[in-house]
Amino acid sequence: MNVNQSAPPVPPFGQPQPVYPGYHQSSYGGQQGSPAAPTPYGAYNGPVPGYQQAPPPGVSRAPPSSGAPPASTAQGPCGQNAYGQFGQGDVQNGPNSTVQMQRLPGSQPFGLAPLAPVVSQPAVLQPYGPPPTSAQVTAQLAGMQISGAVAPAPPPSGLGYGPPTSLASASGNFPNSGLYGSYPQGQAPPLGQAQGHPGAQPPQRSVPPQASSFTPPTSGGPRMPSMTGPHLPGQSFGGPPGSQPNHVSSPPPQALPSGSQMTGPPGPPPMHSSQQPGYQLQQNGSFGPSRGPQPNYGSPYPGAATFGSQPGPPQPLPPKRLDPDAIPSPIQVIEDDRNNRGSEPFVTGARGQVPPLVTTNFLVKDQGNASPRYIRCTSYNIPCTSDMAKQAQVPLAAVIKPLARLPPEEASPYVVDHGESGPLRCNRCKAYMCPFMQFIEGGRRFQCCFCSCINDVPPQYFQHLDHTGKRVDAYDRPELSLGSYEFLATVDYCKNNKFPSPPAFIFMIDVSYNAIRSGLVRLLCEELKSLLDFLPREGGAEESAIRVGFVTYNKVLHFYNVKSSLAQPQMMVVSDVGDMFVPLLDGFLVNVNESRAVITSLLDQIPEMFADTRETETVFAPVIQAGMEALKAAECAGKLFLFHTSLPIAEAPGKLKNRDDRKLINTDKEKTLFQPQTGAYQTLAKECVAQGCCIDLFLFPNQYVDVATLSVVPQLTGGSVYKYACFQVENDQERFLSDLRRDVQKVIGFDAVMRVRTSTGIRAVDFFGAFYMSNTTDVELAGLDGDKTVTVEFKHDDRLNEESGALLQCALLYTSCAGQRRLRIHNLALNCCTQLADLYRNCETDTLINYMAKFAYRGVLNSPVKTVRDALITQCAQILACYRKNCASPSSAGQLILPECMKLLPVYLNCVLKSDVLQPGAEVTTDDRAYVRQLVISMDVAETNVFFYPRLLPLTKSPIESTTEPPAVRASEERLSNGDIYLLENGLNLFLWVGASVQQGVVQSLFGVSSFSQITSGLSVLPVLDNLLSKKVRGLIDNLRAQRSRYMKLIVVKQEDKLEMLFKHFLVEDKSLSGGASYVDFLCHMHKEIRQLLS
Ligand SMILES: [Zn+2]
Repeated sequence: MNVNQSAPPVPPFGQPQPVYPGYHQSSYGGQQGSPAAPTPYGAYNGPVPGYQQAPPPGVSRAPPSSGAPPASTAQGPCGQNAYGQFGQGDVQNGPNSTVQMQRLPGSQPFGLAPLAPVVSQPAVLQPYGPPPTSAQVTAQLAGMQISGAVAPAPPPSGLGYGPPTSLASASGNFPNSGLYGSYPQGQAPPLGQAQGHPGAQPPQRSVPPQASSFTPPTSGGPRMPSMTGPHLPGQSFGGPPGSQPNHVSSPPPQALPSGSQMTGPPGPPPMHSSQQPGYQLQQNGSFGPSRGPQPNYGSPYPGAATFGSQPGPPQPLPPKRLDPDAIPSPIQVIEDDRNNRGSEPFVTGARGQVPPLVTTNFLVKDQGNASPRYIRCTSYNIPCTSDMAKQAQVPLAAVIKPLARLPPEEASPYVVDHGESGPLRCNRCKAYMCPFMQFIEGGRRFQCCFCSCINDVPPQYFQHLDHTGKRVDAYDRPELSLGSYEFLATVDYCKNNKFPSPPAFIFMIDVSYNAIRSGLVRLLCEELKSLLDFLPREGGAEESAIRVGFVTYNKVLHFYNVKSSLAQPQMMVVSDVGDMFVPLLDGFLVNVNESRAVITSLLDQIPEMFADTRETETVFAPVIQAGMEALKAAECAGKLFLFHTSLPIAEAPGKLKNRDDRKLINTDKEKTLFQPQTGAYQTLAKECVAQGCCIDLFLFPNQYVDVATLSVVPQLTGGSVYKYACFQVENDQERFLSDLRRDVQKVIGFDAVMRVRTSTGIRAVDFFGAFYMSNTTDVELAGLDGDKTVTVEFKHDDRLNEESGALLQCALLYTSCAGQRRLRIHNLALNCCTQLADLYRNCETDTLINYMAKFAYRGVLNSPVKTVRDALITQCAQILACYRKNCASPSSAGQLILPECMKLLPVYLNCVLKSDVLQPGAEVTTDDRAYVRQLVISMDVAETNVFFYPRLLPLTKSPIESTTEPPAVRASEERLSNGDIYLLENGLNLFLWVGASVQQGVVQSLFGVSSFSQITSGLSVLPVLDNLLSKKVRGLIDNLRAQRSRYMKLIVVKQEDKLEMLFKHFLVEDKSLSGGASYVDFLCHMHKEIRQLLS
């Protein structure tokens, strides 16, 4: 039963030690991965799930015809006006929006209260500007503070927005308005919102006294002064590192009681501070200095004088604005993490380690805890009590990707075979043997690390312990030394106590008028002829064990007999779609190689057979039903690939009607747009799950197809949905074929059940993702591929112990694509804390955002969108207020103090709030929203990170010879230079933005035309030109695509062109056309919310 242990004694399973220099994320794209490195450790060398497929050789990947204007680009839903709405001149062109937001005339800020100075300069510095060397330390420990300029500035010019009270009301409305940011003109801007308003005139915006609190950092006083902020000098500069975490040691705020202190004119800040070299270094720095000469602060220390006297005679300072560089920068954080953590492998031995960010390339060495590629947590140090957890409001969740693909340098989980006795488990809680189980009594028994039950060690598993109490064979056994591994399952783990048959793939093709006319059917059939040679295989298998079948349909279904003995395929029509049955068993599911000739013949004939069809109506539910019945008859699990074009209005079960109604947006009924219009699909999905039948849906709609309803079955069966609006072969084939190839080839497990066990004190209470649950603990997945995640939320049910920490064990039982039944186990140990500061020091904002987005996106099914948005804002404010109250050093209330590892929470949360699902623009269709909603629910942390905060890369700033990816810039129009070219991607969309003043040479090199005006707007393919720049840019595009799970179609956008509106939608730090707040405004708003909670 044991694993044959011929293993090398020491270094545990010599995981192939990665050679990381060469590691590029892109390299592990499904299709191109190189075979997993052979593991030196022969013993556990189980079948390596195939990352090894090469791209279909025969498949031509010629660039799509170029010139054609991307259909989708120009027009969203075909026919519907696309971006027309964008045009509302309202867009801020020109300099950044932030710039315009001159919130207060210079004088204002200083009015009553010395706002600005406040600041926390010091504080600010800490986080952002630590001298390079100390950076790491501070980064870990320091809380960051943004200066809060608090101050009730007297409404200077009387233009103010009314009495303080208005403020209150304004704030109250804020959430309710739904359209954060788009305040009715003339109304008192809630908080800092004013800033975001391009339209408004600066002068008008006086700030109501209270409002001033928001003006903070931002517009507030001269930034420089703030930096030097007298208040907390010690903190930022001198503070001993140790003290940083809580700011405790920070110099006693000379400050006065909160609030009031603000008014106190702080002494003039040390001049030098502003000149600290350290700060100036920052490149994309979150800090102002980096931005170079600040025009506004011409004089060395303009503000100084002002602080003294209350109504500081407003010096005619230029209008102030919040310097975007003075607020936390995602780019800086990402870059710092890359620099600090990208060069060393992440070794998982220690409990509770926070992994590098998802944006950092790093290798993982499994030494007892699951790799962050499999599990990421919102916090790696969780509160010991539920009271603490409630106080902090930080969700405790894990984003789990059980079958995650690994880079070639990392070994796939070893497969352990315990023979007939099966995997060793705890008798009581059924947890699987893992490195945290404690062996006692000389090795004869073990105590379960999850439930403390004492279990006997079966004789065949017995082994002696060494002097430390560890089994002497610990390093020879994956299940005793690694965080992730697999067990071969015995027949007890199989349905009906029978080992499963290999799975099957059934291709179900819509052959109605639209599908034929667009060229889809012909393209697909042609592609399948070669793609079928690349079905997933396992290990070194010569051919895939997966069998295939074919169905075409419109209002009726056509089944095909493709038995190898036939000379020609045979068609069988089922027109009684109300009572679906499978007309043939023998010859429907076949081995590709055996039936190749018949299959090829069939694929050649299908486009011809339906070439003249006039049938426009389709059915949908009966198609799924048929596929599922076919799998049931064949007694196997499998996947249905559905290629579908229209709303299924034909008379049949699951028939739908067009119920799209944009008028419901922002009403209490908006949620119905996300709900399925009939329960029939849920019922069907349940049957599919029971059969292990997973559905991947490829949609090609020309109009509303009710994605919310059609995606129910894919969603509940662990499948995927792809949508190609207004599909036209010439424009969209590259994208579709690329997605299809990847989807067909990807490694997938079938008929899976996932259970997450936890040590005493916490338990899994909620789950998010594409799956079905028939009880409260088991996540059932008809299929699960390497891209899908399941997010699990935990709650306390008892007190945790700092010493023992908390353990998670995720066990996934599944059928591999070769038909082998297996258990994949991932273990993770977390720390537990009695101090809130420890929680805040070990959080991971990217994962937090992933969880919060999923929570919100599920919430819209049942609650008005506005309620969902409000809840997110409130929770975020509570999280930050709790930190402020319990972990930050006492300081003026005017300061916004953010925990170091959550300093991006506001900017990222704002991106979620203004996403299409929660705040749709006029150009976003109901189907788009439903589509994105279901996509996000299964996304991993890296995907949500770039989806919500797109990557913007300047292309001509770095030396042309440079082979590395250019450093990103912040997603704001302010960062665009009209003399440059940028790529923007978010995992689904890819834009190439061309500035109007780009050098002619560059235009020529990249587009092959002589001037900017000759560049075709909306171009989707760059010409292949033989020069360095062209090669570099095309190479970079290929790289970006390889890193993502879906093909991103390129759209070339020219500055000032109509399409630019579409592009600007992704500049998420700016105010959006749909009313989404700018980052600056949102930060001010959060600050205000936090202050309210604290007061
Ligand atoms: Zn147990």
